[in-house]
Amino acid sequence: MTANLLEFDLEGLAVFCESLGEKRFRATQLFRWIHQRGMSNFDDMSDLAKVMREKLKVHAHVAALPILSQQFSKDGTIKWLFDVGAGDAVETVFIPEDDRGTLCVSSQAGCAVGCRFCSTGHQGFSRNLTTAEILAQLWFAEHFLRQHLGQSERVISNVVMMGMGEPLQNYSALIPALKAMLDDHGYGLSRRRVTVSTSGVVPMMTRLSQDCPVALAVSLHAPNNALRDNLVPLNRKYPLDELLEECTLYLNKAPRDFITFEYCMLKGVNDQRAHAQELVTLIRKHAGHGLRCKFNLIPFNPFKESGLLRSDDATVEEFASVLIQAGFVTTIRKTRGDDIDAACGQLAGDVMDRTGVANRIAQQRAVPIQWTDRKIS
Ligand code: SF4
Repeated sequence: MTANLLEFDLEGLAVFCESLGEKRFRATQLFRWIHQRGMSNFDDMSDLAKVMREKLKVHAHVAALPILSQQFSKDGTIKWLFDVGAGDAVETVFIPEDDRGTLCVSSQAGCAVGCRFCSTGHQGFSRNLTTAEILAQLWFAEHFLRQHLGQSERVISNVVMMGMGEPLQNYSALIPALKAMLDDHGYGLSRRRVTVSTSGVVPMMTRLSQDCPVALAVSLHAPNNALRDNLVPLNRKYPLDELLEECTLYLNKAPRDFITFEYCMLKGVNDQRAHAQELVTLIRKHAGHGLRCKFNLIPFNPFKESGLLRSDDATVEEFASVLIQAGFVTTIRKTRGDDIDAACGQLAGDVMDRTGVANRIAQQRAVPIQWTDRKIS
């Protein structure tokens, strides 16, 4: 079997080139052909010696993921469903805005965390994606979009690891992919423009801050442990204070001077004024230790299996106003790609649940969420 060169960051590609008896610096040329120019045919890589091209044809290939579907929203959002084999498929979404083009990338086929409001979580978990499968989403999307939009310059300016999966539970594949995104010979994205979103895998947040500190978004969704245990089951392992302490430490290495807290607004569950006030108290406690943050409120995209509803607009506005009055920068996420189910929390792909996660969540669903089991003021 030959190596898919999308599996490597530049250092990995240099080691691969050496294994073929080539000089390390050849890897830089090869990396540019692949990632900056979107080439997969070694014969087209004209500044590589013919001998090297022949060796590459024997030992390597550059393979995109097969596309199962491609949907275009009327607002310009594009969603792809990629086949990753054995009955699994993952989704990738491009979201164009006036000043940026953002690609939302998947890291796993399914997800084992099982958040109650997330359709990926409800599908269960099949497997981690490889580095090549993560990078192939960006490689394909960038070069497809240049052609589609008739642009020779870079189209994707931001990458968010917010598609299917918990990226920090696929750490060893994630890091080389992030490094290729940041590499000036690859996509040349700044650390501020590459965001890893986590539900709070605390030990891996520490490692990320050391290995490849990029912007960090944390899925918070609740102001106390009782509620967060229910919405984000990983909270039972890494409860809020531990998570927020790690966020504070992450900022010492982070390319941005704040953490983004994602908060999905669920009608009657976590969206009351009292919740916002409790959130303010919680974050202020940690702000004293240096935690700086902004909030991104996400209108929930309902799906039948969740048993949950979207907060109404007035409730979201009121929640935001409590945070803003307390001095926190707060945004309400615009939903994009609604007509093609591409909005946040809607990515579902097609996953063979090999771990029974989907069953566990179905059982949890039978238990109504009790957010008023203790008084908050
Ligand atoms: S929100 Fe993220 S961590 Fe939670 S189940 Fe969905 S993909 Fe997994």
